[in-house]
Amino acid sequence: MLMLAILACTKNICQAQRLQLAAVRGAQHKSRLPDHPRPCKLLSVPELPDISAYLTALESRIVGQPIQQVRLASPFLLRTVEPPLASIEGKRVRELRRIGKRIAIGVEDDLWLVLHLMIAGRLHWRAVGAELGGRNYLASTDFPNGSLVLTEAGAKRRASLHVIKGEEGLHELDPGGIDVFAASLADFRAALTAENRTLKRALTDPRILSGIGNAYSDEILHAAQLSPINLTRKIAPEQWERLFTATRETLQRWIDQLRAEARSSFPEKVTAFRKDMAVHGRYGQPCPRCGEKIQRIRYADNETNYCVRCQTGGKVLADRSLSRLLGDDWPRTLDELEALKRK
Ligand SMILES: [Zn+2]
Repeated sequence: MLMLAILACTKNICQAQRLQLAAVRGAQHKSRLPDHPRPCKLLSVPELPDISAYLTALESRIVGQPIQQVRLASPFLLRTVEPPLASIEGKRVRELRRIGKRIAIGVEDDLWLVLHLMIAGRLHWRAVGAELGGRNYLASTDFPNGSLVLTEAGAKRRASLHVIKGEEGLHELDPGGIDVFAASLADFRAALTAENRTLKRALTDPRILSGIGNAYSDEILHAAQLSPINLTRKIAPEQWERLFTATRETLQRWIDQLRAEARSSFPEKVTAFRKDMAVHGRYGQPCPRCGEKIQRIRYADNETNYCVRCQTGGKVLADRSLSRLLGDDWPRTLDELEALKRK
């Protein structure tokens, strides 16, 4: 499984890791380097702040512009047959929306082009007439002033495109998680305690909260000084307040920062790792609050990072206890990890 993940990893995917290592090498002694760099762990589904950055960059480029044509390089990308893709051609873009982790481009006649980037899909803005192609190239939406190009690194084709007619169809694509900026503390608490989940799993469940994934949930939990494996029904009232505030403040800070960057240039390098994140992607490096080394819980396709001193009362939750229970068979998903922690 892991080997497959590594084999699927391409030059593009590893760029985030290379940037991370370069930053670490520049700033610290070599002994501080992560012991086993894991190149694929730092790429993940773009989350709310990343999607906000894309929307900001697209707003000035495509709203009001007509879609001239959509070119598909991969037949697997388009997941709908009706309405046909050609029906949006010639229509002007009216508005842009985020639906969970999807980007929705609304055009005339209440038609919507809805894009899910998944893990390795990324958007690019290219000049009119730019040559398109290459192994990672999936599609291009052409406007009179430029082309919105979709690429997907790696061998797996997961990114998806839907053509939708009307609000109802859009609603069906929404996994239903609450918008934390529109929610009260009581709403937030009710959503997260509907089931007794670990905080990590609850924060990243798109049916509970909208737009939060592995990277920002690590940052939120560090800001709230709460353990990723605390169960939602065991959280004290003052901890709920801390978590709610940390969720809003962490997301808002990153939305503001990434949108500001997107105003000056198109967000070409969307990555799960950002050098000024507190814990995410920083295994083995010092916690910015207390200086303790950042820890991790690994599972096959991802890892959770946290600080032992700030979040878990000095307890290392991580790999060793799990490995004793499981041998070399790590949990494959957060759900499996959660099930294991409940035993
Ligand atoms: Zn700390």
